Amino acid sequence: MAAEELRILTRHLGAPGVTGLPGYEAVGGYRSLRRALGMTPEAITAEVKASGLRGRGGAAFPTATKWGFLPQDVFPRYLCVNADESEPGCFKDRVLLEELPHQLLEGTLIAAVALQASHAFLYVRGEYRAPRELLDRCVAEAYRAGYAGQGVAGSRFGCELVVHGGAGAYICGEETALLDSLEGLRGQPRLKPPFPAVRGLYGQPTVVNNVETLSNLPYIIEHGGAAYAALGTEASPGTRLFCVSGHVERPGTFEVPMGHTTFRDLIALAGGVRTGHVLKAMQPGGGSMQVLGPEHLDLALDFKAVADAGSSLGAGALVVMDETTCMVDVSMRLVDFYHHESCGKCVPCREGTYFESRLMHRLEAGLASADELLTLADICEHMEGRCFCPLGDTATWFVMSAYRRFADEFRAHCGAGCCPVRAAAEAAA
Ligand code: SF4
Repeated sequence: MAAEELRILTRHLGAPGVTGLPGYEAVGGYRSLRRALGMTPEAITAEVKASGLRGRGGAAFPTATKWGFLPQDVFPRYLCVNADESEPGCFKDRVLLEELPHQLLEGTLIAAVALQASHAFLYVRGEYRAPRELLDRCVAEAYRAGYAGQGVAGSRFGCELVVHGGAGAYICGEETALLDSLEGLRGQPRLKPPFPAVRGLYGQPTVVNNVETLSNLPYIIEHGGAAYAALGTEASPGTRLFCVSGHVERPGTFEVPMGHTTFRDLIALAGGVRTGHVLKAMQPGGGSMQVLGPEHLDLALDFKAVADAGSSLGAGALVVMDETTCMVDVSMRLVDFYHHESCGKCVPCREGTYFESRLMHRLEAGLASADELLTLADICEHMEGRCFCPLGDTATWFVMSAYRRFADEFRAHCGAGCCPVRAAAEAAA
């Protein structure tokens, strides 16, 4: 049977005028917010818990559990919406920001009711200028219609919405760096504990949730947590957006039920591997995650199944690479990215990514010796688990997994004087 999408989060995508308030209200928008305003915060949290919703930003932490870490009776509390989507290969939050901005605002306000948050800050990636401007317009519409500010939808609950543009730093997607950036400081990760739930924005209890996570809330409140959970599997409830890019016929974003869909299905939705070529490798989860191979095509998109295979669904991206791809070249580009984005706060990452990058450039050019490959492994070993935040770890994961899986290709570059994969492709052309 042909692979199919299951559109829950994206059910209103393409509806007439849905990016504006009248169009969103015409498809039932803000009905769930009104319902949530009639519920207790505990009842909303209970529905989210029943849904099994896990964070869609990459860590997959259960959303209701995260909310439950807020200390009792400490106010004001803040909600931060992490729209700093910067993972290489990941562009699904952008779809939600550009196509369904009011759904995100409704989900944000529902979460604010559950958390009793007085302010919700929407932190948007610096490069996402058009989505940020659209969000500004939607927030203004929400205020005019009485969905934001004091007395939300005629209730006694008040919540201010603030849109804040990032300055283009990948690290600000890390929740504590995001908080520093919001406070006007240089965006660098904070020491944890204390966790943001206890001491977050301006020292107050704060929850940071991803765009996709919050956009699920209107459906969960309308249909109930159990209905949402039933769409996926017990271990991976609900649906999820996946971005598919690389060597496929139709790159794009697809919504599928978790656990019931395989990598093969997802690639089929994107039109398959480009005509005349075969799959060499896949990177699930975005630029940070470990490489998988053709033998994993029938693996279910399930948190545990992918973890057992040695990788992760991460931020919900799938980069497809065919047989023309040089794995050394891909590794070099990803290492360059992490070197550029390292915030410099801790030595293992700041220095490690510098040496990783230098070495990968020598290797890609065919100038490195076999001994330098051992040095590369040594550098990565000294970075993993020793960095201040996860960026340092992730800067090693792809390159080391590619090295293990394609060791012959890495060795063939040593002393070759050029990239042998590129040279072979040029010779064949
Ligand atoms: Fe900064 Fe890298 Fe250290 Fe994270 S691991 S704090 S990004 S230097």
